[in-house]
Amino acid sequence: MRLSRYFLPVLKETPSEAQIVSHRLMLRAGMIKQASAGIYEWLPLGFKVLRRLETIIHEEQQRAGHIPMLMPVLQSADLWKESGRYDAYGPEMLRMKDRHDRDMLFSPTAEELFTDVVRSNVTSYKDLPLTIYQIQWKFRDEIRPRFGVMRGREFLMKDGYNFDLTKEDALHAYNRHLVSYLRTYERMGLQAIPMRADSGPIGGDYTHEFLVLAETGESEVFYDSEITDLTFGDREIDFDDRGQCQAVLEEFTSRYARTDETHDEAVFANVPEARRRVARGIEVGQIFYFGTEYSEKLGATVAGPDGEKITLHMGSHGIGVSRLIGALIEANHDDKGIIWPEGVTPFHAGIVNLKQGDAATDAACEGIYKALVKAGLDPLYDDREERAGAKFATMDLIGLPWRITVGPRGLGNGVVELTSRRTGESEELTPDAAVERIKAIYATVL
Ligand code: ATP
Ligand code: MG
Repeated sequence: MRLSRYFLPVLKETPSEAQIVSHRLMLRAGMIKQASAGIYEWLPLGFKVLRRLETIIHEEQQRAGHIPMLMPVLQSADLWKESGRYDAYGPEMLRMKDRHDRDMLFSPTAEELFTDVVRSNVTSYKDLPLTIYQIQWKFRDEIRPRFGVMRGREFLMKDGYNFDLTKEDALHAYNRHLVSYLRTYERMGLQAIPMRADSGPIGGDYTHEFLVLAETGESEVFYDSEITDLTFGDREIDFDDRGQCQAVLEEFTSRYARTDETHDEAVFANVPEARRRVARGIEVGQIFYFGTEYSEKLGATVAGPDGEKITLHMGSHGIGVSRLIGALIEANHDDKGIIWPEGVTPFHAGIVNLKQGDAATDAACEGIYKALVKAGLDPLYDDREERAGAKFATMDLIGLPWRITVGPRGLGNGVVELTSRRTGESEELTPDAAVERIKAIYATVL
């Protein structure tokens, strides 16, 4: 993309309504614009990051054997009355009537619809196990929407639902989700720690929340510092292998890590004092096993091998896709702006032309730009008639991990400058070598 033709409405002023750094930076970098309280317009740069996160989530979900589909956001209240949640949900559920006076609602989550599609189409034990998921907008009429996309009213969620014949199978689905989520967040460049959580209105005994440590997080968390040394890395997992999934789950959940809802001082006291941490975290996902509650209420059963009726065991699993962008920025920024991890950056590299209109400089920039595009990468070329300082400030603000700076002086010596946004370190290379370097960096990421 050439910046002269892009739509990147960066703000010069720091917006006063934004209380936390990720919200400020998303507004300043032209990623989002508030449409009304807790509802955002996704401008091109923000939309690009959202799409990158969705791609990673889809790839990782499907690697674990889960099947994508899409449910409507506007739903009839009927199923929700059947499950009892139409009354139980309270004012966070946005309700409306259609022209025929039928009760409708904007989906705050989708257990009912997914259970319904299974009860009406899955009749035999042979069709199970099944995990289906979607990435779809949700609406919760939060009493205090704040912190930008962190606590919005309209937000994007990946929500998945597993349907199994036995508790044992459903617990394997639970473990599989935990492992798959660890891998998903790590690919995004984030450390999200699974913590024992409270199951709240969904019910059930098994639930973990994934938390990104950040001072601005809304949850208070308590953990053994050893847990932050764990990384999933590039281990290959066979998601059908119960033993493997169970072993990873145990590795990542055996140390103390809990949200305030489940925190127990007496148990925490067993962690050596030097390793006890009390901090704040952002909830970026949650997984549940809740047994047969919904399938009983909604009559989701299949016929077993001898024709007997089996009530399905279920769980649900959510990732806060739009909230993740806020969490990513909270964890990756400095006073100049955002610092995207390579796995989620909106553009792979920025090209800064220091002397627009100078034939040799323009040609070198074009050459680098085309070579990166040809390599399947997505560069942003700042080809505007602007001062160098303004171009650098924009690149720093929007946070592309790599910048190639091209000017007549360097080109006189046959070199351009490659700069890391994270470390600020620069290196002089030939234009070809700079392109090769960027290709090599992303070859291990994409
Ligand atoms: P919270 O406790 O933060 O209100 P929740 O536990 O009610 O969230 P879940 O039902 O577990 O949310 O939804 C799955 C994920 O969706 C959450 O882990 C979170 O990342 C995200 N999410 C929930 N509510 C919001 C919101 N209002 N704005 C943005 N993301 C949200
Ligand atoms: Mg939750």
